[in-house]
Amino acid sequence: MCNHTHNMHNETWFMRATEGDLSAEEMRQWEAHLERCDACRQMSEAMAAVDHMLRTAPPPPTLPDDFTQATMARLQRQQQRQRWLVIFASILIIAIIVWLGGSALTSALASLSRTAHILIVGRDTIINALMRTTIGLMVSWRAFLPFVVMLAAIAGLWLMPNSVLATLTMLWISKRRQEFTT
Ligand SMILES: [Zn+2]
Repeated sequence: MCNHTHNMHNETWFMRATEGDLSAEEMRQWEAHLERCDACRQMSEAMAAVDHMLRTAPPPPTLPDDFTQATMARLQRQQQRQRWLVIFASILIIAIIVWLGGSALTSALASLSRTAHILIVGRDTIINALMRTTIGLMVSWRAFLPFVVMLAAIAGLWLMPNSVLATLTMLWISKRRQEFTT
């Protein structure tokens, strides 16, 4: 049934036939062979089916052109949201600490706020005392001039900018925290 004299039963020939590399004469022989040879016809039809499938298969899904940009924008929005959340949480925590400062202090958080509270209130009290003493001394300032100068120096120390005091407080608190954790 099969004509093997044309040496068509090999991969090289089949590849050439599939890729349309055969000459007109060879093509004519191949078509004649296919009519007679079931194996080659079935193989050829299978190859044609596969070829057709590959040609008509839907293209692989492609990402939209602005995919990277959109993703980056989304990430940025997310980060911005997180940043706002952190700010909001910080404000909330500070508000709680300030609120606890005036009421009963039992938790560790409250004790931290109490420390800050004492620092601020205590400073005000001492400044008030110094002011009153200074005013009192001003009545007879000639006699107490050295004391007035000394008190003024101390008052100057206590009247440091809030930022300096806050920095020192933060340093103290972080040092205490390190002692707790280590
Ligand atoms: Zn054949």
